[in-house]
This record gives sequence, C-alpha cells and structure tokens, in this order.
Amino acid sequence: MSVTPIRLLGDPVLRTPAAPVVDFDAELRALVGDLTETMFAAGGAGLAAPQLGVGLRVFTWYVDGEVGHLVNPDVEPVGAETEEAPEGCLSIPGFRYDCRRHLHVAATGWNLHGDPVRIEGSHLLARAVQHETDHLDGVVFVDRLDAGARAAALAEIAAAEWAGMGQYLPAPEPVVKASPH
Ligand code: ZN
Repeated sequence: MSVTPIRLLGDPVLRTPAAPVVDFDAELRALVGDLTETMFAAGGAGLAAPQLGVGLRVFTWYVDGEVGHLVNPDVEPVGAETEEAPEGCLSIPGFRYDCRRHLHVAATGWNLHGDPVRIEGSHLLARAVQHETDHLDGVVFVDRLDAGARAAALAEIAAAEWAGMGQYLPAPEPVVKASPH
C-alpha cells in the first residue's frame, strides 16, 4: 500500500469507462489500500481507481470521519430531492464549482472480500458516491454543469498551472512545529 500519483484531467484514463472487478484477490486489496492512502494524503472525500490509472470499478470515500470502499457499485437516487453545492475533484486540483446532485442515494456493490454491501447516504456522502461512480463511467463532475458553466469551467481548467502535467503525487500539508524558543 502506498501513496500513488493521481492522474490529472487530460489523461485518457479519466475518460475511459472502467471494467468490473472479477477477482477479489490480493491485487484488489492492494488497490483499495493505495486508494485509501492516496485519498488521505490528498485530503479528499473520495477517490476512484481510474484516478490512479487503474481501469477497475472501485472507489473509496472518507466522509464525516468514516472511511469505506465499494467495488462494482450500483447507485440509485432515494427520493427526488437534489442539492446544488460546491464540488471539487482531486484530478482537477484547485477548482470548485457548484454542482447539482441527488441529495440521498443508496449504493450496492461488494467489499474487497467479495461480500455484498449496501450503503445509504445523504449530502456529502451521497455527493461523494455519485462523484466517484461517475469516474468509473469516464465522467468528471464538470460534465454535470450547465452548458455555459461547463464551458467557462473547462476554459479555466485548461489554463491551470498543472494542465498537461499528467499526474501529481499528493503530499500532506507539512506540520509546522512551534519553535521551542
Ligand atoms: Zn473526482
């Protein structure tokens, strides 16, 4: 398990639908470990395997102090309520845009042992689950914006310092220690 470089928007892997996981093996456990560690290092609420360059349907989340993962997820809205709130993406660092999402969702899938899992979430957890599941379909959150907002966002993103860099290795903010003197 290790902190792994995160692919930036522009990498084709982020635009490629991911394949279902078939083998619940040591490789999958290592992938979930890498996703979890990298998500923590980057301070994200979620991370999907394509963001590490792996085309498999797996994501992790970290919301309200709870960490989890889901393999081969199937997400359904619960009720019709939606919520527009600022959203960001570790593959589009430095940008946040208001994005409309279902307020409540239920997600089914499997854990890394191959046991069936069902989670229900609202607000940030629901948003993270929808955002990460989109990644597995080659969709980024900017695609969910209205046409005008999307065009403006993509123009800003194309001018980002990191545009064309391909990937970056997240590192936690350095801890500033008070001097003893
Ligand atoms: Zn993302």
